[in-house]
Amino acid sequence: MRAFFSSPWRPFREDTPLTNAVMIFVLTTLFYFLGAMMRLVEELSLFWPLNAVMAGVFARYAFLHRWHYYLISYVAMLAYDAITTTWGTASLIINFSNMVFIITMAQFIGWERSQMLKAPEPVNALKLFSYCLVSALLCAFFGAIGSVGINDQGFWPLLADWFGEQFSTGVLILPGLLAMGRPRVPLHFAWRKTMPIVAVAVSVLASVVIGGAGSLAFPLPALIWCAVRYSLPLTSLVTLITGGLEIILVSSGKINIFVSSPFDIPHMFSARLGIATMAICPVIVSVSVEAINRLIRQVSLRADFDFLTRVYSRSGLYEALNHDDNRFADKHLSVMLMDIDYFKSINDNYGHECGDKVLASFAQKVQQVLGERGVVARMGGEEFVVVATTQDAKEGKQLAELLRKSVETHPFKWRQQTLHLTVSIGISHGKTEAWQLTEMFNELLAVSDENLYRSKKRGRNCTTDGDNSVAAEHHAPVPMDN
Ligand code: GH3
Ligand code: MG
Ligand code: MG
Repeated sequence: MRAFFSSPWRPFREDTPLTNAVMIFVLTTLFYFLGAMMRLVEELSLFWPLNAVMAGVFARYAFLHRWHYYLISYVAMLAYDAITTTWGTASLIINFSNMVFIITMAQFIGWERSQMLKAPEPVNALKLFSYCLVSALLCAFFGAIGSVGINDQGFWPLLADWFGEQFSTGVLILPGLLAMGRPRVPLHFAWRKTMPIVAVAVSVLASVVIGGAGSLAFPLPALIWCAVRYSLPLTSLVTLITGGLEIILVSSGKINIFVSSPFDIPHMFSARLGIATMAICPVIVSVSVEAINRLIRQVSLRADFDFLTRVYSRSGLYEALNHDDNRFADKHLSVMLMDIDYFKSINDNYGHECGDKVLASFAQKVQQVLGERGVVARMGGEEFVVVATTQDAKEGKQLAELLRKSVETHPFKWRQQTLHLTVSIGISHGKTEAWQLTEMFNELLAVSDENLYRSKKRGRNCTTDGDNSVAAEHHAPVPMDN
């Protein structure tokens, strides 16, 4: 669940305890004030974001998990109540219940922290859901006890109300809060990208127009569309807004769900529970999509690049040729097959480890000299291919010679020793067309292979051209020296 903790922004730091304490006091007071203000607006009075926000803060920063920091938060709540209410001792219990939610939640996430940091996993989103459930239950128990005296409702309706409020606010707010990072401004704005959000808006509108209990689930497909298209933080934000809006619309009667229950349970209990349950689904999908994408990136990276030399693998080369159409299609290509001369003797004289190191340095040297003119791939063993876009055969030959000479003059280091390598090259040229790039490349490769064979026969450390003529003067090979 790395995504749930990935933020470069650090308002809290382990080495600044005083700043942390002040920040906690200010944040608690701020969200207490916000919650109190929301209580005044009927539609928003169903939300109490303080507990979820503070739980998120304590969960994100493990070093804040100290009793004195929790105490500061508690004191801030009591101070706010003492100034603005006449609750007296009831305030002690009510705010204690807030702290129960915050501490339980932070503790739960803290236990899983190391495991959650490893990788984003759908199971962690589910865990978050169940943690909210347990924390909300515990909090509701104390909250209901504390509220009995200052509220004319009985214990059970109060318990249901507290639970519904804590659970729904927790599930809506916490995923976004934990996933939040530095917001990135999209480079290109495209209306097409906003379609999932438009779909969410339309589906919420449909819930209002059509109504009924089922209408609560209308936004679900659109939210899942968001989960597939957007990042986890953005999906969490859209889900938070949608869930919050639905709760407001239901409470104000704009979405008419006609709840009838044999128990004396507040009207909003079922709605809030239903919406919270719905809200976790897009988060699970989003986390799953992130996990799948990570896996795909890892697997394709492994398949496309050679682990030892860090240049393309054989399959990666075909991918690069075909998926980078503009680069290689309808261009004059020079295909150079290279085989290091007497490489076996390097293994024999200096060991396999040295052979590996030399292979990696060789590939990097070729890549560096080639630059943006083409791509390098390891075809197997000590055989590499360079595919370069060139003006004509002459430029291709010159490039091959440049590569060959730069290898010949490059001192390869192995421990205290300096080794010298030479390479034999077989080259072929041709103009490609987009629709048969792979076939043409294979044909060119076959010609290069024949020419490489000729280079070896001619004594190595030379380039042989596509028309079987000698492309460059022949040089006596220098397999190694030290
Ligand atoms: P030639 O000039 O004819 O190409 O001689 P050569 O010794 O380079 O040719 P040969 O194909 O006989 O030997 C290639 C050697 O490369 C054999 C193998 O042990 C070695 N080799 C292949 N892959 C690796 C590798 O990944 N690491 C190391 N260290 N050696 C490898
Ligand atoms: Mg060789
Ligand atoms: Mg070989």
